[in-house]
Amino acid sequence: MPSLSSLIDQAALSCAKARKAIALTGAGISVESGIPPFRGKGGLWAKIDPMKYAHIEALERNPADVWRVLFMGIADLLKTAEPNAGHMGLQRLERLGVLQTVITQNVDGLHQKAGSRDVIEFHGTHTTLRCMSCGQRASWQTVRLDVLPPPCACGGFLRPDVVMFGEPINVALLQRAQMLAATCEVMLVVGTSATVEPAAYLPVIAKHNGAFIIEINPEPTPLTDDISSVALLGPAGAMMDRIVQAVAGYKEGRL
Ligand code: NAD
Repeated sequence: MPSLSSLIDQAALSCAKARKAIALTGAGISVESGIPPFRGKGGLWAKIDPMKYAHIEALERNPADVWRVLFMGIADLLKTAEPNAGHMGLQRLERLGVLQTVITQNVDGLHQKAGSRDVIEFHGTHTTLRCMSCGQRASWQTVRLDVLPPPCACGGFLRPDVVMFGEPINVALLQRAQMLAATCEVMLVVGTSATVEPAAYLPVIAKHNGAFIIEINPEPTPLTDDISSVALLGPAGAMMDRIVQAVAGYKEGRL
């Protein structure tokens, strides 16, 4: 079994040589920023039933409850969350000319806060609001939250601009993500359980088109054995730090 150092070295060398690398991130990359994932240890779904609160039909049936339990809970977490070494590592790979795009399933805005410039928010964003009826967008700062769900001027109500279970992914974003997956040379897959489709299929597309897949996750996932070229079983922050350091070494000719 190869050592972690040699796996990191393989990962870094593939990044340093790649003309086009992209990343797919999930809730795990934000765990070190204090935002719990959905599944696994400390996951949100152990505390609340996703079908009761995270499905579009739940929002349509009972918007006040979904707002109170799910949306306000996430908003509280996001208020103080800052990017961690995992987000910063991807931003540094972009600055080193390695990483082109981050495709994230996260809705927390932390990649942009870290300075990543091309971020595809596959499941939308919790950082802005949108009217369920007229589609008008609004910012959290300008909306009063003493009445839930907050009303829109059109008579409808506002909700975070996220993709809930039962809602489609934006077609343009899906097509761009699939195209990037099909044409990248390296894909870093960081902190995702790889169980939510269609995001979970992006590494499969990349692999079938010849990409080198670097997976970072403390736990094995459905990708680990058959799809990942290198699986780094550890937390995003520490693993990204080591990869970036080694990539910088290769780029500067030190290694
Ligand atoms: P998930 O909850 O299904 O899986 C999280 C994964 O992260 C697990 O495989 C876990 O082992 C791994 N993980 C835990 N700690 C980690 C760490 N320190 N470093 C790296 N990995 C770690 O999340 P998912 O695969 O992204 O899919 C579920 C959905 O969750 C997504 O659609 C996303 O919209 C939503 N979500 C987003 C946030 C966020 O925006 N931060 C938070 C929770 C859930």
